[in-house]
Formats: sequence, structure tokens, C-alpha cells
Amino acid sequence: MVHDERDGVRLTSLDAPLGDGLEVTKGDLVDHLDAFADRLVPQLAGRPLSVKRVRPGQEPFMQRNVAKGAPEWVRTVPVWSFGAHREVHQVLCDDRRTLLWLANQRAVEFHVPFFVAGAEAEPTGIVLDLDPPEGADFGVVVQAAELVRRALADAGLAGAVKTSGSKGVHVVVPVRGVPPEDAAAATRALAARAAALDPDLATTAYIREDRHGRVFLDSTRSGSSTIVAAYSPRIRPGLPVSAPVAWEDLPAARPGDVTVRTAPERLGDGDPWRALLPDPQELPADLVAEGHTIPVARVQAMHEGRRRARARRAEPGD
Ligand code: ATP
Ligand code: MN
Repeated sequence: MVHDERDGVRLTSLDAPLGDGLEVTKGDLVDHLDAFADRLVPQLAGRPLSVKRVRPGQEPFMQRNVAKGAPEWVRTVPVWSFGAHREVHQVLCDDRRTLLWLANQRAVEFHVPFFVAGAEAEPTGIVLDLDPPEGADFGVVVQAAELVRRALADAGLAGAVKTSGSKGVHVVVPVRGVPPEDAAAATRALAARAAALDPDLATTAYIREDRHGRVFLDSTRSGSSTIVAAYSPRIRPGLPVSAPVAWEDLPAARPGDVTVRTAPERLGDGDPWRALLPDPQELPADLVAEGHTIPVARVQAMHEGRRRARARRAEPGD
């Protein structure tokens, strides 16, 4: 077994398979995260981190609470988990050695919210998460992303796009001076405006059966939700990474284009995500106001689900 030590962090079993069916070694993960440490850490620093980890013979799992036995230099922040009904301590990945320590635990995916711990009321960005319909060609996601780009431009805003590394894309708009409720509202309004530009192509329908083969513009990932960081690998064969793409290059992009093996050659030493992200912007008042008239998709879907269940019960034999 090949072992190594970098930045005082012991790295073990680097020649072992990373996980089932991933077609890479643990060393491939470590080398990728180390090579991109200078571009990943700035996106992660100060933000409560969730990692998705793998282990041979196990299903991948999302981890928010810091792993037991963490070195004393690993910074954490206490966060109330509504799902788990308890306080968890989330890692703040502020430096290379913390990233390497996580890499050695086979942490593959790095997910962070659009705020820094302690400044939850000051969102740093909003995101539209575009998910293709089952079995669709990536080309439809590209077209849907263009709708989002137009809706942004019509509102005087600019965003940057990256592949998720999985199936879809993320359009990110850095913001400043916006309360969280307004950031969430503006995201809903942008999704609605983008879908209205081509209702046959894109939809904001939270309920799957209502999407009818259209690209889903998910407006619920702003706020305390997370998004995978640019350059983060994804738990899929070959470890594709979430890759920044210039708008002009989007039509030719595909989710699996950049993997941990091809990233150094494809992305070089540069930081395209940093280069492509516009400066933080204020959000137009009319966009925010429009968003406040749109119900939160998740809540609306819950009510709609209940209504449909009642309707089904009222029509026995149907
Ligand atoms: P894809 O392109 O396949 O949609 P994705 O990363 O966009 O990949 P989504 O399911 O659309 O995946 O979710 C968007 C983001 O929401 C993720 O990047 C992740 O940060 C967060 N997320 C989704 N599901 C979970 C979960 N179960 N636990 C924690 N965070 C999640
Ligand atoms: Mn998605």
C-alpha cells in the first residue's frame, strides 16, 4: 500500500480503489483535491461544509457532522440540524491541510451554502440549479441555461455557469446587500421569468409528474441549501468534476468533459470559476417584489400533494 504525508497530514492507501465502480484510486482523488486546493479553499473557507464520502463496499453518504477523532486544528462551527433535531459541528475547510485531511477520509464532493458562518443573513450569491428531464440530451439543459442568462440580462444581472459534474448545470449570481428572503424571492422570480421565455422547454414545477419532459429550473437552492463547489469531483465513474464554462463554450460542453484525470490538462493552473464570476450585484427591487408573490415551491408542492391525495380518495375506483 502506498502512503504519503503532505502538509503534516498522513495519507493512506493511495493505490487502493476509491470506491465501488468509480474507476479511480484514492490517490487520484487526493491528487486532484491537492492540485486544486488553491482554487477550492477560497470557495469553502468559512462556510459550513457538507461532504459526500465513499467507502468500498458501502453506499456513498452525506456527512455534515465532523468525523470523530479530527485533529485539533480542524475548525468547526456548531449548526442546528432541523433534520437530525440536534446540533452538528460542521467543518470549515479554511486551508490545504484540512482539505487533505478530508481527502484522506474519501470525501469526494464538497457542498457549501451561499453564506459564511456567522453571517447567515448576508447571502453571497444565488443559484439556479438546472436539472434535465430523465434520459434527455444535455443540449436541452444548455438551451434552458440560455433562458436563465436572458432573464438575468433583462433584469440587468449577470451570472456564471458551471456543469454540476453530474447531470445538469448551476447558474450562479454573486450578490451583496440582499436579505436572505429577498435572495430566495429573486431566485424564484428569475426561474419563473426564464421558464416563461420558453414554457415548452423549461419549467419551475417542483412536482416531477408536472414537468412533462422539460428542464427543471430549481429555485430552492439559494439560502441555507448548498451547492457543490466548482472543481469538486462527483461520485460517478471516473470522478467528473463540476467545471466552469464560459457562456460561449456552453453549447459544446458535456457533464463528463472534465474528470479528476483530465482536469489539470483541461483547466491548467488558472481559476476559470473566479475569472467568470461577475462582481457581487444588488438585486433589482421589482425582481425581488415579483419573487415575493411566488410561493416557495417546496411548500406549494406539499399542499398540492395533499390536495391530489384528497381528490384521489374522493374518487374511489378511479
Ligand atoms: P445534478 O446535475 O445531477 O442535478 P446537482 O449537484 O445539481 O447534480 P441536485 O440534486 O440538483 O444535484 O442538488 C443541487 C444541490 O443541492 C447539490 O449540489 C447539493 O449541494 C444540494 N443537495 C441536493 N440533495 C442533497 C442532500 N440530500 N443533502 C444535502 N445537499 C443536497
Ligand atoms: Mn441539479
